[in-house]
Amino acid sequence: MISVEEALQRISQYAKPRAARTIRAADSLGQVLAADIQSDIDSPPHDKALMDGYAVVASDVVAGVELLVLEEVTAGDTPTKPVTSATATRIMTGAPIPDGADAVVMIERTELVGGDKATVRINADNADSGQNIMPRGESVRCGDVVLRAGRMIRPIEMGVLAECGATEISAYPRPSVAILSTGNELVSPDTRPQAGQIRNSNGPMLEALVQRTGSKAVNLGVGRDERDELNRLVRRGLEEDVLVLSGGVSAGVLDLVPEVLAANSVEQVFHKVHLKPGKPVWFGVKRDSRGDRLVFGLPGNPVSSLVCFELFVRPALASLAGQNFDSIERRTARLATNHSRHSDRPTYFPARLFQRDGQLQVEPLAWKGSADLRTLADANCLALFPPSDSEFVVGDEIEVYAI
Ligand code: AMP
Ligand code: MG
Repeated sequence: MISVEEALQRISQYAKPRAARTIRAADSLGQVLAADIQSDIDSPPHDKALMDGYAVVASDVVAGVELLVLEEVTAGDTPTKPVTSATATRIMTGAPIPDGADAVVMIERTELVGGDKATVRINADNADSGQNIMPRGESVRCGDVVLRAGRMIRPIEMGVLAECGATEISAYPRPSVAILSTGNELVSPDTRPQAGQIRNSNGPMLEALVQRTGSKAVNLGVGRDERDELNRLVRRGLEEDVLVLSGGVSAGVLDLVPEVLAANSVEQVFHKVHLKPGKPVWFGVKRDSRGDRLVFGLPGNPVSSLVCFELFVRPALASLAGQNFDSIERRTARLATNHSRHSDRPTYFPARLFQRDGQLQVEPLAWKGSADLRTLADANCLALFPPSDSEFVVGDEIEVYAI
């Protein structure tokens, strides 16, 4: 049986970014840039006032000096008169600095005097050349690369794209992901289960996990453990970039998923990984002229499904979308309580991560096993306990994955 690391290594070989596309910047939130972005202008585009006040010749300023007011310039206007010694232009934040002026005195340090209010008295001892002025191009020069290929577009990058005139950009599209829950026992959440039945909790959970990554989720609902039905639904699922199934990959008589995938020319890359929960996880790829489609068969128990999604599907979706395959955040924390569950497999254990005494600490929850989704709901991380036959004790350093 292969290790988690080996499984990730194999998945990463197939999870390559999808072909870049040109899209409107306005539609790019959450996507990764496929090409550098250059600015088509200087920013700011002119020397600009950073305060409401008076644009002056700095060397004129001594306490009580009176200057002749030439005009008023607000943001969006342009000055029409140069400022010379003994004159000033009333200026508002963002407006271009008039020729000749090299400082802005803030309005709070001034008062208008004289009947016609055409003279301003400066109540400051002096002014430094350049004060309250942002020079043209100080933030961005025309032609500068402002965002590099590989950058994820967050709201801040949306603003930078707008500032620099990049209305069309090249980006990696997010993959589309089909979700198929398998099992004769599954009924929909709005139904009271009859004898032998359970509600389908994986379907909604996996759909939400996919949506959270920013990818499009196509929920195909429930497939019975029956070859023809699974065949039809798998064919539909292979129309998307990724197919995520839950259930049907263990050793039971009705665990038909691997054979139905094989019948649809999905090549198995691995089946079973040395971990807990999630050991039966299956991964394969369908390769044809349409490009590679990745297929994950997650074990049906909800906690196993969640753990395998976090470990294997999430990095694959990130990589298909142009992010680093290993961009998933891992941290270490100190164990807050003793933990005595022994296993020969690395175990991803529902736990709570918190700060105490200036330290990141982790407390494993009273988890009842792979079918206990309810306890997982109280967790904010998975704590990784390596194989061990001795007890883990308070203060041990443990690797954790935020969920
Ligand atoms: P399987 O992987 O199909 O052998 O299923 C393992 C366990 O997970 C069984 O107890 C199933 O009833 C349960 N299970 C399978 N699919 C789901 C699902 N979609 N929602 C909740 N439990 C499930
Ligand atoms: Mg099943």
